[in-house]
Amino acid sequence: MSTQDQAGRSHNQVGQDEPSLVGASAAADCTPNAQASQSLLLSNGKKLRAGVLGATGVVGQRLVHMLAGHPWFDLTEVAASERSFGRTYAEAVRWHLEAAIPESVRNLPVKGLDPSLDCDFVFSALDSSVAGHAEEDFARAGYPVVSNSRNHRMDPDVPLLIPEVNSAHLDAIPVQQKNRGYDTGFIVTNPNCSTAGLVLVLKPLADAFGLEKIFVVTLQAISGAGYPGIASMDIQGNVLPFISGEEEKMEAEPQKLLGKWDGSRFVDAGIGLSAHCNRVPVVDGHLECVSVGLKKIASLHEVRETLSNFEVDAELASLPTALRNPVVVLDGEDRPQPRRDLNVSHGMAAVVGRVRECPLLDVKLTLLSHNLVRGAAGSALLNAELLAARGFLNRRVTPSESHLAEPISR
Ligand code: NAP
Repeated sequence: MSTQDQAGRSHNQVGQDEPSLVGASAAADCTPNAQASQSLLLSNGKKLRAGVLGATGVVGQRLVHMLAGHPWFDLTEVAASERSFGRTYAEAVRWHLEAAIPESVRNLPVKGLDPSLDCDFVFSALDSSVAGHAEEDFARAGYPVVSNSRNHRMDPDVPLLIPEVNSAHLDAIPVQQKNRGYDTGFIVTNPNCSTAGLVLVLKPLADAFGLEKIFVVTLQAISGAGYPGIASMDIQGNVLPFISGEEEKMEAEPQKLLGKWDGSRFVDAGIGLSAHCNRVPVVDGHLECVSVGLKKIASLHEVRETLSNFEVDAELASLPTALRNPVVVLDGEDRPQPRRDLNVSHGMAAVVGRVRECPLLDVKLTLLSHNLVRGAAGSALLNAELLAARGFLNRRVTPSESHLAEPISR
């Protein structure tokens, strides 16, 4: 069930007995927006409980890391494949981050994909071979699913979300629930890792000048292929000029993201877009060389100013993982570089450099985004924060609690 507030935003209705979300002032310092964020706790003082499906993968473990100390969410469940099932998280995961595995997660038992987890919503970082059905099973069982996987991104009733770009697309959730017979569950997705940075940069340009054509060449990191990913014999000292399905995703997803939800369907942005995708021997961070054709004439100065002045609204600025200025423009003639600029703004920014004239289209630039943060875990976390702020995530009565609410039978 959803209602509309005065600003026309949808809110899930919370049952009378369920604790509702309230604002309170407390902030964790592990989040990019530690100062601006307000803790959004349940009225009983508790946080929302999150589960991570695919918690042992490279995206899943980033989520586990980013959820540690989160001001609104507690990670209570981790799930993965048969390989990991029944082991503790520390035993099952091949941990790649420099920071240690969070203490609170080390001993969590890894569960399977049975939709009966003790949590209020789930993130999905599942391999795409299983994500499609698993996400539907969880949504049908009443769990909001915040997904990284490609399976449902282009579904006609599933929001493909970048909060700074198309938060109005969340209005599709009640339609999705009605179409699919979901009660409290639903699926929201974030885009492919190279699309995320690109569209963050295109959005302010689209608003200021309109977009006609985009030509983009990517140099994508190996962590984008998951673990163990590409054999070192194939990528060491080499470039692979093919990533299966990637160009198709990069050409389709921006159309949905920059398009509109008209109340019953998504209408594409209708931009001419051509993508070349390459895998390069860099561990993390996708670099993209982009040429843009604008509808209105703009000087290089105006383009640069438009990008660096791109600022989110007050609602987004209050989310713990949000940046007030999600596009960072660097001056150096040889920047951005993956090794040097990957962690600008905690990996949540699209980092732009080399804004210059393009002899074929109007303007060209280079952008860098962290494929595992802005392109995956950070995007999913930001999506969940926006869903929470808008009232789409609520406390669930989970299987372990339901017997407490029932009268004792004699
Ligand atoms: P990954 O490292 O290969 O991790 C895959 C995860 O899925 C692991 O936790 C694995 O569990 C689990 N899994 C595999 N088969 C399963 C099964 N049959 N049942 C249950 N769980 C299963 O992949 P990743 O790079 O983290 O990517 C995860 C998802 O995010 C993919 O859909 C990918 O396309 C998407 N994505 C990735 C990136 C990126 O930069 N890497 C960016 C955006 C989106 P086990 O460890 O137990 O095998």
